[in-house]
Amino acid sequence: MAISNTGWTPGWTTNPPQAGDQLLAISGSTILKPSEGWFLSWKSVGHQGAGCEAVALGTWDGKPVYVTELADPDLPGLEPVALRDALLLMDEAPADLLSTGFQVWQWWRDHRYCGRCGLETAFHPAERAKWCEPCGIPWYPRLAPCVIVVIRREDRLLLARSSRARHHFYSLIAGFVEPGESLEEAVAREVKEETGLDVANVRYQSSQPWPFPHQLMVGFFADYAGGELVLQEDELADADWFLPGDTPPVPPQTTIAGRLIRAMEHDIARGGGDL
Ligand SMILES: [Zn+2]
Repeated sequence: MAISNTGWTPGWTTNPPQAGDQLLAISGSTILKPSEGWFLSWKSVGHQGAGCEAVALGTWDGKPVYVTELADPDLPGLEPVALRDALLLMDEAPADLLSTGFQVWQWWRDHRYCGRCGLETAFHPAERAKWCEPCGIPWYPRLAPCVIVVIRREDRLLLARSSRARHHFYSLIAGFVEPGESLEEAVAREVKEETGLDVANVRYQSSQPWPFPHQLMVGFFADYAGGELVLQEDELADADWFLPGDTPPVPPQTTIAGRLIRAMEHDIARGGGDL
């Protein structure tokens, strides 16, 4: 992700946490944040008992860090911070670690039982996976690839406002990749479905994990290749072509949408036809 935090190193172990290990404490889609930093000590939540599980994430400043969901989220001194607010609004948030933590916890919570035979799963002995011994199936954390694309038409770019958005940003066309599709085919299909437009010259730009709940956003540039705007009403409330520097409010630079829009604006401003 664009937000870098030098203290974070992903890693995996089946070892349970020790008293001094660091703990990313969550409750639903909320981080339970102490006044200093982002972590509690495992010792400090020990009173929550054996029902409080923790899953390894890696290390932070060289010390093990785990994620857990607290049975009692009302511990004194903890401030609830919505994950979405942390990733969108807080430049100081360790975005990589938070994204990893929520996705790993979701995997842990949702794969207690084998999806094929229904028996309880165990830790895989060597990998970050739950393991069904009778079926011989490792259940890995799920990832859902999604494409997101900024489309250029001469010196303008296409921005759209989602009909489901809770904010007033104009953003980009995006959607989940379907089975059997390449990423480029997913871009062309999503753009056609949502806007009626054809695109060409679809080219990769950057990517971002987006833990709502387990998306991997894959960002592209594309060129307008034909058609007139016909909006899919259950997806888009509005869409139009905008000149760089004259756009409505767009997502912040902590998001891949915001960064793709800025990158395309720079590309247009310097007269380039490509990256
Ligand atoms: Zn099974």
